[in-house]
Amino acid sequence: MSDYNVDFYDSVVIGAGAAGMMCAGTAAELGYSRIALIEKNNIYGKKLLITGKGRCNVTNNCDVRTLVENTVRNGRFLYSAFSSFSSSTIT
Ligand SMILES: Cc1cc2nc3c(=O)[nH]c(=O)nc-3n(C[C@H](O)[C@H](O)[C@H](O)COP(=O)(O)OP(=O)(O)OC[C@H]3O[C@@H](n4cnc5c(N)ncnc54)[C@H](O)[C@@H]3O)c2cc1C
Repeated sequence: MSDYNVDFYDSVVIGAGAAGMMCAGTAAELGYSRIALIEKNNIYGKKLLITGKGRCNVTNNCDVRTLVENTVRNGRFLYSAFSSFSSSTIT
């Protein structure tokens, strides 16, 4: 194991998946300059690289009704959320 001086860092993020990378980026935007992003895999975002067959689908470019109709179970439950935060809002 490498010899890290934890006192050097002002924030430490464990896991460089989507959430961890966003967290580290946000910490940098907030002015933290000594951020350690620790990942057990050999590269950051390894799971992200396999999502959506390597393209990482963010959402589908379709209307709310189509999204609800193509949700596997109980799509109507998501109608309100999809309406407030639609595909166009996300992209
Ligand atoms: C086959 C597949 C396809 C998918 N396709 C899509 C898609 O097209 N679009 C989409 O939006 N989502 C997709 N997802 C979901 C998406 O991958 C997850 O929602 C997203 O990766 C979750 O991010 P996360 O940061 O919460 O967790 P993770 O991506 O799991 O990241 C956690 C990280 O922490 C690391 N870690 C864990 N424990 C430790 C430790 N003790 N020390 C150091 N590091 C550690 C892990 O190695 C990992 O890199 C897909 C998921 C799978 C499995």
